[in-house]
Amino acid sequence: MAFEGLTERLQNAMTKMRRKGKVSEADVKEMMREVRLALLEADVNFKVVKDFVKTVSARAVGSEVLDSLSPGQQVIKIVNEELTELMGGEQATIQIAPKAPTVVMMVGLQGAGKTTTAGKLASYLRKNQNKRPLLIAADIYRPAAIQQLETIGKQLDVPVFSMGDQVSPVEIARQGIEKAKAEHLDFVLIDTAGRLQIDETLMQELSDIKETAQPTEIFLVVDAMTGQEAANVASSFNEQLDITGVILTKLDGDTRGGAALSIRAVTGKPIKFTGSGEKLDALEPFYPDRMANRILG
Ligand code: GDP
Repeated sequence: MAFEGLTERLQNAMTKMRRKGKVSEADVKEMMREVRLALLEADVNFKVVKDFVKTVSARAVGSEVLDSLSPGQQVIKIVNEELTELMGGEQATIQIAPKAPTVVMMVGLQGAGKTTTAGKLASYLRKNQNKRPLLIAADIYRPAAIQQLETIGKQLDVPVFSMGDQVSPVEIARQGIEKAKAEHLDFVLIDTAGRLQIDETLMQELSDIKETAQPTEIFLVVDAMTGQEAANVASSFNEQLDITGVILTKLDGDTRGGAALSIRAVTGKPIKFTGSGEKLDALEPFYPDRMANRILG
């Protein structure tokens, strides 16, 4: 189960606080020491933890708490609010271009779940927003990536545009978008190549596709299981491509929480969706407040 360790440790840290009729600065300090350790153990970025502890501590010893009827509960409420804030506060929805089709680029490291997530997103847009999407197969390097996308398209009954692996990804993207325009489709989702790690050739290719496709959204797909490394990856992609959002996959695994809690603070970009399974309907919009509740248990 995701966040299990973190939830348990945060709950332990807050048990004493819950019952307090009076809260002293020492109580807050003690609790925050445990919260800090819990977050670090969940692989949250060090600086993010430091800032979080500072913010919560400052609020928790303020008059908002000391003058309240149940200060212990009040402190817990502050932790919840600040966790929500840490993950972006408000829900960040998918942006739509003023003129169809809205172009979405899916980027990320190999194995993060990019191709699967492109399919999930197409399905989500059709089911929940009544949109007509086109999937574009622009990952010409990973063996079987094109076929994988075509299989997903068939399963979902969503059209897939491909030109094999001998045409440049930029050209595939360009022609795919033309096709979507001609057929009055609402969305194109471009599945781009990944690598096992970030390299210059990959980034250059993604920049070239961006330049041509002029996407409204560039979603970085990252594997939540990789913890704060996911935040580092997000940071690099963001520097190179100015991404517009993150999709966090594999939340059905036993991720400790580091990625979910670090990404927004490290990159300034919101998590917009989460993936929680291999099935093509396992994609949900990301709600920071619900995630904070889930983490606090
Ligand atoms: P890509 O290389 O980034 O395109 O990755 P793929 O889309 O091929 O996904 C890699 C593996 O991760 C596949 O086996 C997917 O079924 C799996 N996967 C993708 N998203 C999720 C998810 O949210 N949960 C789980 N459990 N598996 C996922």
